[in-house]
Amino acid sequence: MDRLGIVVPCYNEEEVLKISSEALRGVLDRLVRSGKISDDSFVMFVNDGSRDRTWELIEEEHKAHPHQVFGVKLAGNVGHQFALTAGLTTVATMCDMSVSIDADLQDDVDVIEEMVDKFHEGKDIVYGVRRERKTDTFFKRTTAQGFYKLMDAMGVRTVYNHADFRLMSRRAMEQFSMYGERNLYLRGIIPLLGYETDCVYYDRKERVAGESKYPLRKMLALAFDGISSFSTRPISMVLTLGIIIMVLAIAAAIYALVSYFMGRVQPGWTSLILSLWFLGGLQLFGIGLVGKYIGKIYIEVKQRPRFNVEKVLGDGEKED
Ligand code: UDP
Ligand code: MG
Repeated sequence: MDRLGIVVPCYNEEEVLKISSEALRGVLDRLVRSGKISDDSFVMFVNDGSRDRTWELIEEEHKAHPHQVFGVKLAGNVGHQFALTAGLTTVATMCDMSVSIDADLQDDVDVIEEMVDKFHEGKDIVYGVRRERKTDTFFKRTTAQGFYKLMDAMGVRTVYNHADFRLMSRRAMEQFSMYGERNLYLRGIIPLLGYETDCVYYDRKERVAGESKYPLRKMLALAFDGISSFSTRPISMVLTLGIIIMVLAIAAAIYALVSYFMGRVQPGWTSLILSLWFLGGLQLFGIGLVGKYIGKIYIEVKQRPRFNVEKVLGDGEKED
């Protein structure tokens, strides 16, 4: 029977912790009863350096339900992405599949069952995808959608309207832990694992209590992280711009020379305008070119795995 570990990053979530613990334990009980997961399945709360009573509450929950509720306490606040990674790498050796979900229960806990079903069908990664964003404020909705569009335009492969609510099999978690990069954007890495994936759809709810820990500032930081960790397209854009300006310099040269010979110009203007355009273009071109090399260095230092083996037929079979 397969053991499930539910990973929940928590930052100042004292208002919702008990509620989500109860809801998630309910899900575990139901799944155990229907024989879909083993009875030692658990919820793992990751306390991301909360400044309120979150950790005390996690300890209380663990005392009350020692076999169902576990906790990890991080020393200080490291942010949602790292807290989640800490949780995933911790549970990777403890269970056969994990589901990551936010503490605020905005994601529908009832689709976890569907995720587990897909796992039993042989999927390694199951994405929870939001159907609509009716309950989000207009501002949150448009900024979030702009975020996915921007990612797409910058060539970062992500699943549209999927946040970090997803199921991962044990080998997906193990493979994920091979990605040792420091600038972490989970939603970009998971699709790189290449395993068989599927989606389940749900309606996103309102926060049970408390307020969003993801203000616009953090969203922008996440977007920049996502782009700068996955794409060298901005560098290429600088290079292209440099080339365009150099071409424009030719047009400017023709215009300046014509004006010069027609005698309509102040002395010195022609040479000034020519060097201005040409040097500007040349500089951008040079920066872009250097940037291309930096882009290569940056891809090298990540030391990402070059491939992920899914199956081997024959000797030393790697099948499950
Ligand atoms: N979170 C975290 N560390 C942080 C910020 C947030 O672990 O520095 C957790 C938070 O407790 C929640 C999840 O990340 O479980 C998502 O945060 P939130 O619900 O505030 O984001 P939103 O849904 O508004 O985008
Ligand atoms: Mg939330």
